[in-house]
Amino acid sequence: MKENIATIPVNDIFAQLEGCPLCRMTDMLEKNNIDYITGDAMMVPDVRVETNKKGFCHRHFSQMLVRGKKLPNALLLESHLQDILNTCVPLGNGGRVDKKRFNRLAHVNTSCFVCDRMELEAEHLYETVCAHWVNDADFRNIFSRQDFICLKHYQKLVSVAQKCIKSKYLSDFNAAAGQLVSDYLTELKKDITHFCSMFDYKNKGADWGNSKDSINRAITFLTGYEPDLK
Ligand SMILES: [Zn+2]
Ligand SMILES: [Zn+2]
Repeated sequence: MKENIATIPVNDIFAQLEGCPLCRMTDMLEKNNIDYITGDAMMVPDVRVETNKKGFCHRHFSQMLVRGKKLPNALLLESHLQDILNTCVPLGNGGRVDKKRFNRLAHVNTSCFVCDRMELEAEHLYETVCAHWVNDADFRNIFSRQDFICLKHYQKLVSVAQKCIKSKYLSDFNAAAGQLVSDYLTELKKDITHFCSMFDYKNKGADWGNSKDSINRAITFLTGYEPDLK
């Protein structure tokens, strides 16, 4: 398989052949960004201005606490909380609600610095997956040997492909991605049906086949994350 700097992460990720490759890609981006924001980014003033305005979602705050040290987390929070005081809380003077401050508060409550960076970086990696699929027969082969692509990443990948794969290759790409997902979905549906049938008294003592973990696999396929059973 031909490799260059832009394709190395994609090749490594697709070579693992376990679960959804785009979920593995998302995990990699997430870990890199969490390490960056609690590490090197502490020294970058422009980044701090952005994290002050956007903040972080619950998932990423939690990961920052788990992966990062306490002091970087506290320093980020110190300036983020001060920024909220300066720009949107309270929402106005006296009983008045200032529209600008209200909009800033709405932004703080819905935005996340890590989610936004991951979105941008993922777009680039999806484009690399598409380019690689067009240019490299080995990659097309490894693409079709994946376990599956989860439902959300299937939609995202196909949407990027429509913009960046030339029309003469596009229908083959759409067919390959569609085959991968529909084959898995068909098997998964069969496993869930089998799981349900095992609760029928007529099937007492029958073989569970591959159905025992089918609920967990269905949730992972539908959401991109393994169920959280804590
Ligand atoms: Zn996925
Ligand atoms: Zn986030």
